[in-house]
Amino acid sequence: MGFIPIAAPNNYYMNKPTNPTILFNKPYVDERVVESIRQVILAGKLSGDGVVCHEVEEQLKQLFNIKHVLLTTSCTHALEMAMMMLDLKPGDEVIVPSFTFVSTANAVLHAGGIPVFCEINPHTFTMDVNDVERKITSKTKALFPVHYAGVSAEMDEILELARKHRLVVVEDAAQGVNAKYKGKYLGGIGDIGAYSFHDTKNYVSGEGGALVTNNEHYARRGEILREKGTNRSNFLRGEVDKYTWVDCGSSYVLSDILAAVLKSQLEEIKEIQTRRREIHNLYVSGLNDLGQKEKLRLPIIPGYCESNYHIFCILLRDEAERNRALAKLKERGVRTTFHYVPLHSSPYALKELGTKNIQLPVTDEVAGTLLRLPIYPHLTDEEVRFVIEQVHEVLKD
Ligand SMILES: *Cc1c(COP(=O)(O)O)cnc(C)c1O
Repeated sequence: MGFIPIAAPNNYYMNKPTNPTILFNKPYVDERVVESIRQVILAGKLSGDGVVCHEVEEQLKQLFNIKHVLLTTSCTHALEMAMMMLDLKPGDEVIVPSFTFVSTANAVLHAGGIPVFCEINPHTFTMDVNDVERKITSKTKALFPVHYAGVSAEMDEILELARKHRLVVVEDAAQGVNAKYKGKYLGGIGDIGAYSFHDTKNYVSGEGGALVTNNEHYARRGEILREKGTNRSNFLRGEVDKYTWVDCGSSYVLSDILAAVLKSQLEEIKEIQTRRREIHNLYVSGLNDLGQKEKLRLPIIPGYCESNYHIFCILLRDEAERNRALAKLKERGVRTTFHYVPLHSSPYALKELGTKNIQLPVTDEVAGTLLRLPIYPHLTDEEVRFVIEQVHEVLKD
């Protein structure tokens, strides 16, 4: 690729100069980001929902064939907005996988609902549709699938359940930007979707996200919630002659400075995806022998998915071996990480949601054995081969 990396070189954070460290992640940035930000500063308008935000929103609509895109300060905030739109009453339930980032469950709680934790499918690590069906009650108001690693949840089955029980479907597509399910871009398949442009994701603004929807009503409500509960967006379009407080909202508009960072990334959206796919394929072919010997399990991308290769993860034989591999790889200069402490067994859920007796064996198994390897465009082929070699060494005995 023709970019000039301005991120720190891979050995930047090392303690010993002779032991190069392969970092777990590096955001994709190049010199053009600096120019992009400069232009916003020179134009003199640094707040949000300005010219650059609008440009990026238009671009995202085109790219992902989604009618409405509202940039937000984070995916967490987009998820909170989505849950606010459900107008939950006390006791209302929303079904979420336990195997997800905390933001999914926090959003339900902030909106006054109860997150009900469901099991995951052992192959894709997304919602187990049979378990979801078992957990639907008269209190259930929405299903909250999470697309893990860039691999889609089983959306047809989820949408069918939602239709049958009259539920809203909100997609946590934080990791699903530019990935597809049966030819459709993630985020725009359910009623509302949320993207993340956090530093650790595929396309970044630093901190940032988007609420996406094909539903006009949710889009209008989103504009209001995002602008402190005012109809300022209607005012700016000349639809009303003054703006005022019309809903209970907050401040979720993305600054144009951060939108400019995202804009420079979107220019290379294809290249970023291609490089991630190449790294994914190098890992698959380099680790395949260990898969055949059943020393580890490689990730599965079902035929109905087009991944964005956000995460490359392997499953090891048990938790002790995973923890040992993580520590040994670190000694050998390769930074890896686990994912996630299941929410139903987290201190907060145990204390506040009484989740002690919830049994989610697949979730526990996956969370206990999963190891994420470095995957980002700055990673070179040699570095990937080095990681593959080290994994072989660590799993030798
Ligand atoms: C990263 C992530 C989020 C949060 O995204 P932010 O933009 O950092 O708020 C939410 N859900 C999932 C599944 C994520 O991976």
